[in-house]
Amino acid sequence: MTPGSTADVLRTPYQRSVAEYWNVEKDPVNLRLGAVDGLYHHHYGIGEVDWSVLETPLDRRDERIIAELHRLESAQAEFLLDHLGPIAPQDRLLDSGCGRGGSSIMANARFGCHLDGISISQQQVDFANQQARLRDVQDKVRYHFRNMLDTGFDAASFQGIWNNESTMYVDLFALFSEYARIIKPGGRYVTITGASNDTFGLPSKSVCDINARYICDIHPRSEYFKALSANGFSPITVVDLTEATIPYWELRAKSSVATGVEDPFLTAYKEGSFQYLLIAADKI
Ligand code: SAM
Repeated sequence: MTPGSTADVLRTPYQRSVAEYWNVEKDPVNLRLGAVDGLYHHHYGIGEVDWSVLETPLDRRDERIIAELHRLESAQAEFLLDHLGPIAPQDRLLDSGCGRGGSSIMANARFGCHLDGISISQQQVDFANQQARLRDVQDKVRYHFRNMLDTGFDAASFQGIWNNESTMYVDLFALFSEYARIIKPGGRYVTITGASNDTFGLPSKSVCDINARYICDIHPRSEYFKALSANGFSPITVVDLTEATIPYWELRAKSSVATGVEDPFLTAYKEGSFQYLLIAADKI
């Protein structure tokens, strides 16, 4: 197989189905929000909602709700970047499962450092590279069609690695084994992810509905700590963002870009079967 060829990157029928999902995805909740300022996210938001947007006169109401949802999604990405530790301009970061690349652009703007983003969707990679060119940061921000379980990067390449809502597509032990290889000793790993709550028992109906909607496999919270520890990562910060993300979902449920997945998310969070977590860990 040629390195970087489709067969080399997409190793299983499951991975091909996930790639196909993201290759054809043109959901307004992602594209309209991204068009606000050219930062395209495929993750959810956190923080207090400005509920006055709902009182806006009809001719501007939709536009203001979209801008507010986007503000909360960018706040989520900033919160993730806050936990990467000190990053110097010469450092290199990996945005693993990068989507259309918004978080990497933000990281480059904040740290001035080198970014590599990877996705198994060639369409997303092409879109993200186009955004980097439009912002004239293509020398420092590069997106690649690669699999996070076998990235092909050299050993000890990265000062920091993150997954922003993209760990639910992979086995965590295999993932952190690959990261243990490519991160520098003392480097920082950060994820923001939905996780099923171990204390609920087995996954709830709402968690199963979310899995079915996105063709993914939401991991239990405990699995992150087992897999990190097994691969030489020592957790340094855990933040439960569940309460902080509920207002975003409540606003989204009232918006023109609601997709129907709002109900399972709100039910799962409110019944306690699902949590929105930030986990940061250092490579020993
Ligand atoms: N992190 C991005 C963000 O915050 O906007 C995108 C998150 S999106 C929910 C999930 C991403 O994970 C998609 O870009 C998808 O292509 C990617 N992905 C899923 N499985 C992958 C794998 N095995 N290797 C690389 N990327 C993968």
